[in-house]
Amino acid sequence: MSKGSPPQGPQTRQIALFDLDGTLADYETRMRRDLRRVQAPDDPIYALHDRRAPKYFGVRLDLIKAQTGWWLSLPKLPLGFDLLRLAQELGFQVQVLTMGPHNTVSAWAEKVQWCHRHIGRAVKVTVTEDKSLVYGKVLVDDTPRYVLDWLAQHPDGWGIVPAQPSNEGFTHPRVVRYDGTNLSRVRAAMRAAWKS
Ligand SMILES: [Mg+2]
Repeated sequence: MSKGSPPQGPQTRQIALFDLDGTLADYETRMRRDLRRVQAPDDPIYALHDRRAPKYFGVRLDLIKAQTGWWLSLPKLPLGFDLLRLAQELGFQVQVLTMGPHNTVSAWAEKVQWCHRHIGRAVKVTVTEDKSLVYGKVLVDDTPRYVLDWLAQHPDGWGIVPAQPSNEGFTHPRVVRYDGTNLSRVRAAMRAAWKS
């Protein structure tokens, strides 16, 4: 830092926060595969986050997620890594911001291990139960509810939403939904966040 320049506090750092499941890690494809293994042929199909699904469906999800090594085995999601590379290219410090499942505490450790394996040991990882409390200029996250909560706490921030069936049609003045074809719009949003 040059002499005379103000110290850079935590609230001015150029940080881009990245979600894991459905953003960098392919939760949906792996969960669908594992659900098929425990389904009867005539079982109805529910969306993974359908709150109206019967209780047994949620219990199946919990049992699958509770297997040791399950989170660590999730494959990388190319859409999220496009955005990660762009954020790094623009100079952002990339940090991971992921939810720690309240009933699956083993997942907290596996999520950190996943980041070390697929992004590198230098990346800082926050596992939390409230994403809105964590500072950043950009939040990349596939879940509209988390993005809206975070934007409410970060009025100059921008949200980038990797396209998933669950966020189809989601719009907001400070959100770009990235579907693999509109990286230039994402770049413009990230630049606006940098200057904010
Ligand atoms: Mg997610």
